[in-house]
Amino acid sequence: MTATQVSGWPLRRIVVAGGGTAGWMAAAAIARTLGPAVELTLVESDDIGTIGVGESTIPPLVAYNRLLGINEAEFMRATQATFKLGIQFDNWRIPGEGYFHSFGSTGTDHWSAGFQHFWLDARQRGLAGSYEEYCLELKAAHAAKFAHLPDDRMNYAYQLDSGLYARFLRKMAEGDGARRVEGRIATVELNGESGNIAALTLDGGMRIEGDVFLDCTGFRALLIEGALHAGFDDWSQYLPCDSAIAAQTSSVGPSVPFTRATAHDAGWQWRIPLQHRTGNGIVYCSGYLDQDAALERFLGALKGERLTEPNVIRFTTGARRKQWHRNCIAIGLSGGFMEPLESTSIHLIQRAVLRFLRMLPLREISERDVAEFNDQQMTDMLQIRDFLILHYKATDRRDSAFWRYCAAMAIPDSLAQKIELFRETGRVFRKNEELFAENSWVQVMLGQGIIPRSWHPIATKLRDEEIARLLDTISRNVDQTIASLPAHADYVASYCCARQTATANAA
Ligand code: FAD
Repeated sequence: MTATQVSGWPLRRIVVAGGGTAGWMAAAAIARTLGPAVELTLVESDDIGTIGVGESTIPPLVAYNRLLGINEAEFMRATQATFKLGIQFDNWRIPGEGYFHSFGSTGTDHWSAGFQHFWLDARQRGLAGSYEEYCLELKAAHAAKFAHLPDDRMNYAYQLDSGLYARFLRKMAEGDGARRVEGRIATVELNGESGNIAALTLDGGMRIEGDVFLDCTGFRALLIEGALHAGFDDWSQYLPCDSAIAAQTSSVGPSVPFTRATAHDAGWQWRIPLQHRTGNGIVYCSGYLDQDAALERFLGALKGERLTEPNVIRFTTGARRKQWHRNCIAIGLSGGFMEPLESTSIHLIQRAVLRFLRMLPLREISERDVAEFNDQQMTDMLQIRDFLILHYKATDRRDSAFWRYCAAMAIPDSLAQKIELFRETGRVFRKNEELFAENSWVQVMLGQGIIPRSWHPIATKLRDEEIARLLDTISRNVDQTIASLPAHADYVASYCCARQTATANAA
């Protein structure tokens, strides 16, 4: 049965409140998947606008776009996108040192033990180079090279202009039948009996009724919190940064296929190279750095001509206790926010949208679906939260009150177990489709200075010449592939060159 043939479907009116990245990602996916089987309406306010950040992504977005049938080159041209192979972290363990969290795998695993076990053993025998030697994506990023390889052998994501991405998705969604209404939501009307949301009323009196409402109103969380009071878990004791300032600058050189995250004494700064410009921001904890000082530091570190006024953003890290409550699902910042450090927010939007489509209610909303959705979404968020905390906790920095706080702070048991297991045994296990796989954890733990005290005995079975040959073959293969790759900027220019307007989305 196709979507258009579904009959007796009482919950067909889907209302998306908000038209930022979350709203349009949801609308585009729903419209493309369900088409005329639903009445899809999106309300957004031009006066309020969107948050205007969110430009660095992670590899699952490639699959999301494919799922929606999006042509990659067309999408990259429309969003001024570049490729991203990972994140360069500088000054996190100690000032002056850095490491790379790549999207690839490092070396070759044995079924019983990850590559890090063999590398640790070889390192002790003086036969290994740095861990970074054995990863294709990492070395390609450092060499500023990129190409699509057969069998998707190079794992990548995008760096994109979020405003242009929303515009691109809007065109798609409207083409697939979504209706857009412009206006400010003034009130959220509840059904007196069920407690569900019945309608949104806009300034001027227009009323939009619906069966299911997606709250994509950003930090305002007008529906899920403002009307339904779903509650919020505050995680700022673990992730204490609560402020950011963002601005766009002109590019100062050919674009590189990675994002930079450079720590400072009360947080960190990002730099995201797009085709037409660079996105920049400083993230900080206002308890340790005031806004004026943060602004001065931020502006002082900018490279290139500034194209936009600094955009000051305040946030509280944490998650909505119920992501789905009654007939409302929080998607995007309305569902919570945990720091842009590992570019995970857009990914959480994607997960929520796909989950919603998998659990699409037919005759009535099943409380089992709601519980399942909330459990799955919260599991994702808790796992990501732990991974982010790792960057702050596992540091040797003691040069500021902020870093002394981070080094001393209590951490969740789940993260403590992961860190201590790795420290004692070199092992990392991925649970429940966890977003960050073993190699992500290994790269960040090693980069942050956690070196295992022991490792799998299978690595000791290899003779010196065997282990040396193994490592040498891997690194030679990596180098040979990289030698054959074009420069990232050249590849982008030939594959998906966008119109070069430095201020394409500066307004
Ligand atoms: P918004 O963009 O705020 O959109 C809210 C929408 O709701 C707007 O259309 C607004 O007009 C509408 N709205 C609100 N109130 C009303 C009303 N009363 N009536 C009508 N409409 C209304 N994520 C990443 O994945 N990678 C990153 O690199 C990244 N960097 C970030 C950096 C910072 C500093 C911050 C704070 C976030 C970052 N994020 C990042 C998160 C990312 O920006 C968001 O996940 C993404 O932009 C989605 O936002 P949103 O659509 O939920 O909210």
